[in-house]
Amino acid sequence: MTRRLLIIFVLAVGLVAVCALTWTITWRTGIDTLRRNAAVRGDRMTAALKSTLERYESLPYLISRHPLIQNVLVKQHPDLVDQANRYLEDVNHHARATATYIIREDGLCVAASNWRGPDSFIGVEYRFRPYFIDAIGGGVGRFFGIGTISHDPGYYISQPVRLDERIVGVAVVKLNLEWFPGSDATEPLFVTDDHGVIFLSSVPSWKYHTVRPLTGTIADSIEQTQQYARQDLAPLPLSVESVLADGADIVRVGTGIGAPRFIETRRSIGEPDWQLVTMSPVAPVDDDARSAAIMTAFAYLSLCLLGFYWRMRRARVREVMRSREMLQKAYGLLNERVAERTADLSQANEQLHREVAERTRAEQELRAAHDELIQASKLAALGQMAAGITHELNQPLAALRSFSDNTRVLLDRGEHDAARENLEAIGSLTERMGKITNQLKLFVGRARPKNARALIGRALRNTLGLLGKRLDGVRVELALVNGSVEPPSRTPFDPHLDYPELVAQCDDLRLEQVLINVIGNALDAIAAVPSPALSIDVEAGDATLAISVRDNGPGIPDDVLPRLFEPFFTTKEVGQGLGLGLAISSSIARDCGGSLAARNEPGGGACFVLTLRRVQVVVPRTSAADA
Ligand code: ADP
Repeated sequence: MTRRLLIIFVLAVGLVAVCALTWTITWRTGIDTLRRNAAVRGDRMTAALKSTLERYESLPYLISRHPLIQNVLVKQHPDLVDQANRYLEDVNHHARATATYIIREDGLCVAASNWRGPDSFIGVEYRFRPYFIDAIGGGVGRFFGIGTISHDPGYYISQPVRLDERIVGVAVVKLNLEWFPGSDATEPLFVTDDHGVIFLSSVPSWKYHTVRPLTGTIADSIEQTQQYARQDLAPLPLSVESVLADGADIVRVGTGIGAPRFIETRRSIGEPDWQLVTMSPVAPVDDDARSAAIMTAFAYLSLCLLGFYWRMRRARVREVMRSREMLQKAYGLLNERVAERTADLSQANEQLHREVAERTRAEQELRAAHDELIQASKLAALGQMAAGITHELNQPLAALRSFSDNTRVLLDRGEHDAARENLEAIGSLTERMGKITNQLKLFVGRARPKNARALIGRALRNTLGLLGKRLDGVRVELALVNGSVEPPSRTPFDPHLDYPELVAQCDDLRLEQVLINVIGNALDAIAAVPSPALSIDVEAGDATLAISVRDNGPGIPDDVLPRLFEPFFTTKEVGQGLGLGLAISSSIARDCGGSLAARNEPGGGACFVLTLRRVQVVVPRTSAADA
């Protein structure tokens, strides 16, 4: 802040100094030029005036030497006067003078060039005029004054007229100096007489003023000679301000600051002590100096502004460069970070890909294991069933053997009726065996598509048929619960019917596998119970079908309940169970979009509920009854 103030102060001082210097130099140069021009003008005007005066200097002498003039001054005969008048008129005309006349020694004008006019000088008394006094005294008279008759200012040159060495009169030539530059002169010019009275001036108002105060005697003599008629010869308010080289001064005309100033140069014009004074106005020089100072100030200020602008621009450019550098740095940093993050991300991505591949592989392995487990459990069930089937088939096989033996004996005896009965018994036995093997074939068959349908009635019938002998001695209660109505209705469920309207979304073989597992477990649980009983409910809802299997066994211990569906979890002895049944069953239920749940009944015993999606089918009543 202080630095800035200091700079502004220095610049302001510089501005003042430069302006002052410019003003001074311009003013001095201007004044110099003006002074030189004034000197030249003064010289020129002096020369012109001098030559004019000198041209007429000899004219009165020539007139005085003319015999006619000499005679007329002595005799004054009318003829001679007339001749003299005509002669003076002629001379005056050719010399281009204002008036030419001769004065007698007593001061009376005898003949004059203007003898014809009303303002003729003839008869006028000139005794008091200095030019007469000088000439009558034997000298040459030179005088500037205002005419007593014409009242025109003029320059008078006089010579004595001699006759036989005696002065008999005076010859006078009057010149009008009105050719002198008038008021149109741009630079004032005036001529003062020996008393300092301005009698010729380009400025009319300065005329008949004095450049210095008149002393009393001089004023009296002027008054006496009527040199300037009755003009009030007041001094011009002229004050010298400074003195320049070559006798030039700077003067002020008038009072006050507004009064104009001039360069005054003086030139002497010969004998009568006249002085030609040129006055060159200083105002244009002042104006030029002022303009130059103003221009310099403008230029200086423009330079300052340019300097400021340049400084600001440089600062701005520097700022921009710095910002750009910072931006580039930030950009580089960002790029680095992005590269790092990208590397991290690609690493994470690779990791993810690896994990996904791992998972997919694990899933495939799991699926394969799952399939293998299903297969294993099938084999386990097959093993169990094989024992049952062997047991089942051994009995009819033994019966078949004894029936066939009996039939041969009966045929040998000719008891054909009895033999036929035996053969019929054999037929029913083979039919029963066929049923058993048929179910086995169904059990080992391949899995069907997921959107397969299963009839609940048929699945239950097949399951119970497969379990066959194991159900001996067990009280089995089957019920159909209609859950779509309020309150739900409960009717006995006939396992011999298919119930075509009760269709579950599940492959029938897998449904049977689940049912065999669940009902088989229940049978295991009630094996040691005094009066074993099973209760199977088929609950038909609008969208679901639920099969609940209850037993009156010991129920599921609390520590077993959470682990029930774990693969290979079993409480059974080695060789009795693999611990796969429920795990596989629940996964089958899930695959079909359903579920398998287990709980203990409040009255004792366990309850397993298999819930499946119901497939709505429209079945005519009659066909349902036929089935
Ligand atoms: P496994 O029958 O080969 O043991 P499961 O998965 O079928 O394998 O059964 C696992 C266990 O669940 C059985 O060992 C048994 O302890 C228990 N369990 C299954 N059903 C019942 C039930 N109805 N009552 C009591 N416990 C049961």
